[in-house]
Amino acid sequence: MAVKDSHFPDVRSVIDALKPGYPVFCLRPHELKRCAKLFLDTFPGRVLYAIKCNPHPMVLQALYDAGIRHFDTASLTEVATIRESFADADAYFMHPVKARAAIMSAHDVYRVDHWVIDHESELQKMVDVTGAGDGQVCLVRIRTKSFGAAFELSDKFGAPTQQVAGLLDQVAKAGYQPGLAFHVGSQCPTPEAYRDAIRTVGKVLEKSDADIHYLDVGGGFPVHYLGDEVPPLETFIDAIKDSVAEINLRGDCVLMCEPGRALVASGASLLTQVQLRKEDTLYLNDGVYHSLSEAKAGFRLPVRAHRLEGKLSDEMTAYTIFGPTCDSTDVLPYKVELPADLDEGDWIEFGQMGAYSNSMSTKFNGFYPETYVSVDEAPLLPDNFDIERDV
Ligand SMILES: *Cc1c(COP(=O)(O)O)cnc(C)c1O
Repeated sequence: MAVKDSHFPDVRSVIDALKPGYPVFCLRPHELKRCAKLFLDTFPGRVLYAIKCNPHPMVLQALYDAGIRHFDTASLTEVATIRESFADADAYFMHPVKARAAIMSAHDVYRVDHWVIDHESELQKMVDVTGAGDGQVCLVRIRTKSFGAAFELSDKFGAPTQQVAGLLDQVAKAGYQPGLAFHVGSQCPTPEAYRDAIRTVGKVLEKSDADIHYLDVGGGFPVHYLGDEVPPLETFIDAIKDSVAEINLRGDCVLMCEPGRALVASGASLLTQVQLRKEDTLYLNDGVYHSLSEAKAGFRLPVRAHRLEGKLSDEMTAYTIFGPTCDSTDVLPYKVELPADLDEGDWIEFGQMGAYSNSMSTKFNGFYPETYVSVDEAPLLPDNFDIERDV
């Protein structure tokens, strides 16, 4: 049976039809579109999808169908994927460290005209390779303070505040339309991180001679994992709007954001199968070297068990869960509560699996989770789930 791109009413029908012994991503195109529309309707500017989060063609297509036309890319492959998939979509090269060959091809072949730098050597590299002609835009990335994001990015990227005004002036002098950008870190728990970064933007602008044409507030918008209640998206957007109103931007300055996780996390669940049970330990066909790598950061996913025939027990057991590889560290870093009579051949579905799952998967030990179907069913979220038990 040609599984690829198959469509089913719900996950149950996927099991009935395929009885899959391999992991299956169950995409929810309707949910991806809902998240895209929420951003497009509430964010006061351009919404760029950070393609690294999940570059699967069905995911990109759903976001495009919902109206996303701008994409945050960080490699020539990502640039090419966007430009070759959608004739009227733009790829923005938002990595502050780029290979010369990548700059040249992105510019000459794919007509990229938005770039990011965080150091004068990178600016010089871009001037050497392509120059600033034809309305090229260059944003200077600012280092942000830590507000407890699950993945901090400012240790690696972003110019220290005191260097930013000088860099901005150099960018303008080189002939680019100047802009500023930041990223508060992924799964950022508080709108205060964006407020603080935008206040820094205000301070930089007081010191710089350049007027910015673009302000990019990055990604980092959080989603709800088990036991990790986060403020709703509107709180973040309101904080951004309020803070932007307090700084001195030119009237036609374009705001941009680059969500990854918040656009796609809820748009897929992952169906795995139990290969063996030993006492309270389950061996699954997917794990932290493959689709579940972010579980290593402690993210707890909503889960649901399925059995082909017969009912599962209402009693629960806390299980240790191993992935399929020969490595003993291929294990979820917490126990997961599932029906007490779960056994070989039953399925475990993990929700909130659209973000940083397939895109971070290795091919270790010959396991390749690469089957995708779409379903009409509602997403598997912590909200429609009994979350009180601390597994
Ligand atoms: C990873 C990344 C994003 C997306 O971040 P999320 O936390 O998934 O929203 C956006 N912009 C840049 C520059 C990134 O590196």
